[in-house]
Amino acid sequence: METWKNYIDGKFADAASGRTYDALNPATGEVLAKVPQSDAPDVDRAVKAARRAFDTGGWPETSARERGRILFRIAAWVRANAERLATLETLNNGKPLAEAEGDVADAAFCFEYYGGLATKIHGEVLAVPGKAFAMTLREPVGVAGLIVPWNYPIMMAVQKVAPAIAAGCASILKPARPTPVTMLEMAKGFAECGLPPGVVNVLSGPGSSIGSALVKHPGVDKISFTGSGDVGREIMREGAATLKRVSLELGGKSPNIFFADADFEAAVEGALFGVFINQGEVCSAGSRVLIQRPIYRKMLDAMVEKAKKIRLGPGIDRETKMGPLVNQEQYDKVLSYIEIGRKEAKLALGGSPVSGLPKGCEKGFFVTPAIFYDVDNAARIAREEIFGPVMSVIPFDDEEDAYRIANDTPFGLAAALWSRDHFKVMRAIKRLRAGIVWVNHMQPAMVEAPWGGFKQSGFGRELGTYGLDEFTEVKQVYMNLDEKPIGWYK
Ligand code: NAP
Ligand code: MG
Repeated sequence: METWKNYIDGKFADAASGRTYDALNPATGEVLAKVPQSDAPDVDRAVKAARRAFDTGGWPETSARERGRILFRIAAWVRANAERLATLETLNNGKPLAEAEGDVADAAFCFEYYGGLATKIHGEVLAVPGKAFAMTLREPVGVAGLIVPWNYPIMMAVQKVAPAIAAGCASILKPARPTPVTMLEMAKGFAECGLPPGVVNVLSGPGSSIGSALVKHPGVDKISFTGSGDVGREIMREGAATLKRVSLELGGKSPNIFFADADFEAAVEGALFGVFINQGEVCSAGSRVLIQRPIYRKMLDAMVEKAKKIRLGPGIDRETKMGPLVNQEQYDKVLSYIEIGRKEAKLALGGSPVSGLPKGCEKGFFVTPAIFYDVDNAARIAREEIFGPVMSVIPFDDEEDAYRIANDTPFGLAAALWSRDHFKVMRAIKRLRAGIVWVNHMQPAMVEAPWGGFKQSGFGRELGTYGLDEFTEVKQVYMNLDEKPIGWYK
């Protein structure tokens, strides 16, 4: 079994206490790795290292070209180590290997994208009256705490780390407790690629101790968080004491809307892909499937038939299309929602034990795809984020009905709609209250384009140029060009 260390101030080290915890392989329930169980003193060391890099170490003063070059080197390191990173991601998170490979490729490109953007950070000249000159500078926000969830352990982290480096920030990354392995591994790349000590630090440990310590630490200027709404609210409360800049990428209960004129075959697969990819552990999962009445029954039946054939197994097996959930806690949560759903709606598929798994997977956290239908949008399985392979199918009559149901949710992360009528498509795009609207697809997330939520799905944006803005502050510069005294006090 491998062990990993924290990466603090350019060095690999155990937690100060010497304590470790086990990271599991969710397909087997076996221990995959021992990682540091860090605590507040480790956070303090990492914050001090980041502060030194930022305040006196000269990191913000490095040229943008140099920061860009470092990011390109890290991207090359990720590509050179892609196989190992993807394998570890699958072993630690559970997702099918092909998905992990896609995530690693996205991560490499994300470093390249922000490597290119590093040299394009600039302010503007402003028209001001009189003999004066005004401009803005874009400066790094300072030391940033980066707190991420376990569903896309590499991508969730890299889409924060890469823009932080490009902007000239120093950061402390806390991976989620179940899935620390790949970002601790990637720290080796940060060291090899010439990132100066303290610029990025990576620590594993519980959110309740090290996450909270980051949020409270006066040496941290900004928290960039991806995770649940409950922890997001806690971060706002705790961060208020030191007026932290906060950006929050939270959950959702996203509608995937199928109009009767949609291409039928594409619709059936799109509905399944929208909610079952990554075992349903997707913040933008299309967990509410809204179907127009004329195709409701036919589409439901076709979805059930196709979903029955989704192959469950360990992600490391190339035939697998759905891996295990991440851990016991998530497994129990999803099964409890299936029980809740049985009382609220009709179950067309799922809710039974998994059969046919390979030997060794008896203790894996596998849940078969579940499809509930005739779901009332007021039901708990239509309102609460389950974060697992559970679909709630809801019928609708016309466009207005679809928008009303779609927007009747506290969340606003994502929405998708399927139709071949471009008039209807444009009307829907304008009516749906969400940070992304997909048309005739669901889930592609591009590094070049902004990602984030409306309403209780959070605020701030990641990816694209917007993701870089989150790591900068705007400084105004006003220069008097008139050499005479002001002349106010005669
Ligand atoms: P979570 O329970 O909110 O945890 C997220 C991170 O916060 C973890 O690293 C966690 O550490 C840490 N944390 C826990 N308590 C904390 C505290 N008091 N202070 C600071 N940090 C703390 O979320 P999760 O269960 O990992 O992930 C699922 C959630 O993430 C879902 O709601 C999903 O929708 C959301 N998500 C959103 C997006 C998006 O882009 N909008 C993307 C992916 C996931 P521990 O691991 O130790 O608990
Ligand atoms: Mg959690």
